[in-house]
Amino acid sequence: MISVKEAKDILSRNCEKGRISEFKLEQSLGKILAEDIHSPMDVPSFDNSAMDGYAMQFHEKYRHWKVSGLVQAGDTESIEVGPGEAVRIFTGAKMPKGADTVIQQELIDKQGNNSIYYNSGKITTGSNVRLKGSQCKKGEKILQKGARITPGIIGLLASVGVSKVAIFTPPLVGCVVTGNELKEVGEQLMDGEIYNSNGPMLEALLKKTGVGEITALRAQDDKNELQQTINKALAENDVLLLSGGISVGDYDFVKECLESAGVKELFYKIKQRPGKPFYAGKKEEKWVFALPGNPASVLSCFNQYVQPCLKTIMGEEQVWQPDLELTLSEETRKKPGFTFFMKGKKEDGKVTLLTGQQSFNLQAFSTADCLVELDEEMAVVPKGTMVKVYNL
Ligand code: AMP
Ligand code: MG
Repeated sequence: MISVKEAKDILSRNCEKGRISEFKLEQSLGKILAEDIHSPMDVPSFDNSAMDGYAMQFHEKYRHWKVSGLVQAGDTESIEVGPGEAVRIFTGAKMPKGADTVIQQELIDKQGNNSIYYNSGKITTGSNVRLKGSQCKKGEKILQKGARITPGIIGLLASVGVSKVAIFTPPLVGCVVTGNELKEVGEQLMDGEIYNSNGPMLEALLKKTGVGEITALRAQDDKNELQQTINKALAENDVLLLSGGISVGDYDFVKECLESAGVKELFYKIKQRPGKPFYAGKKEEKWVFALPGNPASVLSCFNQYVQPCLKTIMGEEQVWQPDLELTLSEETRKKPGFTFFMKGKKEDGKVTLLTGQQSFNLQAFSTADCLVELDEEMAVVPKGTMVKVYNL
């Protein structure tokens, strides 16, 4: 049996960024950019007005102009403005040739039909003009590889005319839930049966992590059926997750079937609670994680091991650190020799361990917002101890 740290070291050593592929801008939200982006154009691509007002060649001495034309946002023809002339202009409209300044309409007095007057002293040459290339020049680096695509970044990329980006491809994940005792939500339970809660929870965890297509599969505790399901799921996905059947019971066939499918074990069993019989393996570039069936083990093993690996494949860095460190609000006792991952709630800069931590009990899942790591060697963890906290 290995320690939590050893398990994480093995995974981080073996896990690399995944394939890169091109994604349409509208499909890139939340994903990680796999290349630097250089702007293919000057933005703005033409000098334009930042205000509704009048454009002219400005000179301190002149206060009166004759209005000689009009230009609206989207007009593509070039108009010219001569000395002593001004052109009516609107926000975003192309600056007329010969004009270098816009006076906003609030500072203008109209005199008759075609004549304007200005006397506020607020304007200098170049006021209210957005110059060509002032956001970025053609060829300038506007985004760094490794950036997570946000709605703002989508806006930026669209503004420079980029419609496709190179992304670390989210992996296809097959999710096999094992157990004769399981029925799907909506089905009738017989005495001795339970609802499959790991399946929907794992799917939600995978979606939240941002993976590609998820294929949900079910297998009975039957070696042949399980073998076929595993072989198919491995062939069709980049990552295979299993729930249940990885412990030492007579009907726990997962490990055996993975070996028969050609999966090479990285480790099996970690000195931790919950989730001791957690298995990680690889078949060439494909990843396999077998999680013990207890729902608390599933949540904890996914959070601690599966999610960081998936994030690495999807191009994220620094995935193995805790999200934060907080002080424990109350003393707690634990069995030494095992790292504990307890469901917790963050409050006022402290973290409280919730009641109902048994591995079958899902009630605390409703209020937990984090997992708290309690060190392997500790037996009593005093109130006020700094503990590692992982967001759920
Ligand atoms: P196993 O790891 O298969 O021995 O399962 C351990 C415990 O988790 C047993 O009490 C199972 O009934 C329960 N369990 C296994 N799979 C699921 C599941 N998909 N949803 C809810 N509980 C499960
Ligand atoms: Mg089972």
